[in-house]
Amino acid sequence: MSIKIVSPFALPLHNAINILLAGDLIAIPTETVYGLAADATNDQAVAKIFALKNRPTFNPLIIHLADAVLAEEYVMFDERARLLAKAFWPGPLTLVLARKPGCAISLLASAGLNSLAVRVPADPIARKIISDLKRPIAAPSANPSGSLSPTRPEHVFKGFFGQSNPKLIVDGGACQGGIESTVVNLITEPATLLRPGLVSSEQIESIIGPLGTLIESDNKILSPGQLLKHYAPQTKLRLNANTVANDEALLAFGKAVLPGAAKTLNLSATSNLVEVAANLFAMLHEVDQGQFRAIAVMKIPMRGIGIAINDRLKRAAQD
Ligand code: AMP
Ligand code: MG
Repeated sequence: MSIKIVSPFALPLHNAINILLAGDLIAIPTETVYGLAADATNDQAVAKIFALKNRPTFNPLIIHLADAVLAEEYVMFDERARLLAKAFWPGPLTLVLARKPGCAISLLASAGLNSLAVRVPADPIARKIISDLKRPIAAPSANPSGSLSPTRPEHVFKGFFGQSNPKLIVDGGACQGGIESTVVNLITEPATLLRPGLVSSEQIESIIGPLGTLIESDNKILSPGQLLKHYAPQTKLRLNANTVANDEALLAFGKAVLPGAAKTLNLSATSNLVEVAANLFAMLHEVDQGQFRAIAVMKIPMRGIGIAINDRLKRAAQD
């Protein structure tokens, strides 16, 4: 049986809800990347996410909720969390907070930690599914662990072709944001940035003051999004390219495109970083079909969301 890609308009969404209630998985569009969704209160369903993605069980999942009031049912909000939620939810910001005693969300989703990562997504289809389900959804990116993130339904299809889950992919077209959410740890004082994303550190600091520096320890991974190799294509990736060979694909940036590549895609001809984020994974998928010896990427400036883009590129280029 192959996975169905369905339009949210053609399909009564209760089909998707019924799959979740039965403890199976669906893929849903969000404003960041496609998510592999399960009922977060169902241990077996959450376990299916880890199995399908081949995700290490030490890597916790983000819980998606309908609103901030609901989030407070599961995690301990403090003043900083309330301010950030008010400023950025719904939107691409994930808060890591302590689990409340008796929290109904599967412990597996926390991967053995006392904390839980929560977010209220902005995408209207995701919101409708979460509010119709009336339960929180655990939803990591809908791709095999470590591989390129999916920003279109066909990326999800390619990643899980031939598997028994997800039962369906809700087609919301291309994701607007294109890279994963910013993750902030509010367990620490000051708060720390665990993963850069579409909401910048400057935006967060303007609300809650300076973020602390993360102390990375070898034996304890605070946030597995920090894994050195992650979000990676099969093809070798070369960063900050200022020349390109005729057997390489080029991901260009700006007007001054390097000549000589076997194929060139421009991440943004107008040097717009929001456009780069939206195009990044889709363009990597397109040139990662084994057609080229390597993928060369021109330098992307380290400002604003360029920081998150360079974070993903660095992990994607790791051997
Ligand atoms: P993904 O779901 O693939 O977008 O990845 C979720 C990101 O959030 C990963 O980098 C996780 O390590 C991080 N994360 C989720 N839950 C927690 C948590 N309780 N503590 C720290 N990081 C978390
Ligand atoms: Mg992921």
